[in-house]
Amino acid sequence: MTSAEIRQSFLDFFASQGHTIVPSSSLLPDSPGLLFTNAGMNQFVPIFLGEKAPNVASWAGARPAKDTRAADTQKCIRAGGKHNDLEDVGYDTYHHTLFEMLGNWSFGDYFKQDSLTWGWHLLTKVWGIPAKRLFATVYAPKPGDPSEFDTEANAIWTELFKAEGLDPVLHIVHGNRKDNFWQMGDTGPCGPCSEIHFNLLVDDNEVEGRKGVNSSSPRCIEIWNHVFIQFNANADGTFSPLAAKHVDTGMGFERVAGIYANTKGFTDFAPEPSNYSADVFAPLFAKITELSGKTYLGTVPTKREGLTEQEITDVAFRVLADHARTISCSIADGIMPGNEGRNYVIRRILRRGILYGTKLGLKTGFFEQLVAPVVLSLGSVFPELVERQDIIRRVIKSEEESFGRTLDRGLAIFNKAAVGASVITGALAFELYDTYGFPLDMTQLLATERGLTVDTEEFERLMEEQRNRGRASTKKEIIVAATEGADTTEIKPTQFTGYLSLTTETTLID
Ligand code: ATP
Ligand code: MG
Ligand code: MG
Ligand code: MG
Repeated sequence: MTSAEIRQSFLDFFASQGHTIVPSSSLLPDSPGLLFTNAGMNQFVPIFLGEKAPNVASWAGARPAKDTRAADTQKCIRAGGKHNDLEDVGYDTYHHTLFEMLGNWSFGDYFKQDSLTWGWHLLTKVWGIPAKRLFATVYAPKPGDPSEFDTEANAIWTELFKAEGLDPVLHIVHGNRKDNFWQMGDTGPCGPCSEIHFNLLVDDNEVEGRKGVNSSSPRCIEIWNHVFIQFNANADGTFSPLAAKHVDTGMGFERVAGIYANTKGFTDFAPEPSNYSADVFAPLFAKITELSGKTYLGTVPTKREGLTEQEITDVAFRVLADHARTISCSIADGIMPGNEGRNYVIRRILRRGILYGTKLGLKTGFFEQLVAPVVLSLGSVFPELVERQDIIRRVIKSEEESFGRTLDRGLAIFNKAAVGASVITGALAFELYDTYGFPLDMTQLLATERGLTVDTEEFERLMEEQRNRGRASTKKEIIVAATEGADTTEIKPTQFTGYLSLTTETTLID
């Protein structure tokens, strides 16, 4: 199955149930409290809060049907804030920093019965996943919790599993607040959720499959979350029912695409599903293979230090493929690498990508070449990538040039300091940050690979001291063009002034 067919079949299925198909919103969220758009529901929050009428059929670019039903594929980044999957990327095969979340929504329209039944129908009938390999989670509060057991979802799942001749007790897993209850904040709309998990191993072993649910074991992965927004959380900790109840679902597109990777249709499964086997990643893997001359074998390490050569290679392939998508899509949405907030997250991810490139023997300057395969695989779904590919390449190129000037020296200093050490001092981490542009998490990553830790307390203290110095003194800034090959000590944020004029400034501070 091609990934494009899977994405389309999801959208077509929900269109046939009266859903308006809306475009993905930008990765730059409207909400000031969010670093990045991190779920399909973000753009619908004003509707859930009752601040905006459900009017999706009139949205620009929508394929209109009902105003109260929407479906889409949403670009999401989970690399900071409440959801941060950055550390898992590369080390597992199903968490990305950027992924597509397929979703369907009801704004005061249908509720649990339809959402779960349609979801089940799509998975088991349209896509042919054997029911045996699926598990459902249902909200069950701990004793004393003022919220209620989700009897409704439990009853629906009981019927659905029974109809397949399966034991509902084995296939329904109860989950507590952490895993099965969604709240926007301390107060406001909230409700239970019900997730569908897929047993990755073809042995169909139901007992073992169940053990994998919520265990962070790669045995069984979560594919689809159905959230039922039915309560208002009050300031006194109680819950009152909402007049209009909503449905908000999210399914990991690459996870499903990995399940069908390189198969002939929806009746066949990849023997060892990995998101990275999905064809959305194929052009990237082909490019990384071509640039590095190395072969990806898909091994997954079980630990973070002492990796084999092949494991190092395979982690690096996955990290590069992931990060190239994240950087390209964020720049396309106007989130430039920079020194603060979300812009610094993007710069950190790019530098991390460049570091992983060195593990494949790639010299700085390679990353820019990963933009074309991203555009090739995602451009038809997210046309902004096609329109802005030149600017994406230019921004990456200039970032690589800046970081490339200090990376090797920084690595040499780190390697020397690491010999015989058990801790990387805060002073060294600070020097690497301040003089060589190593984000703290990059130094931590290098340390972890050698079984070392970083003294982050000392690092934070030195950072604070520097901030105080900065506030106290007047700085003289000499601005030089990035192309002059300056020996940078600090790199200023790329200034985004629209897609036509872009200035990248490298600043020397003395
Ligand atoms: P997980 O427990 O696997 O981290 P989650 O519970 O954090 O997932 P949700 O917030 O429920 O995820 O998001 C809905 C769906 O999006 C998930 O069921 C999963 O299929 C997918 N998903 C979540 N995070 C990622 C990610 N980092 N990369 C790829 N897909 C993801
Ligand atoms: Mg998660
Ligand atoms: Mg989860
Ligand atoms: Mg979930």
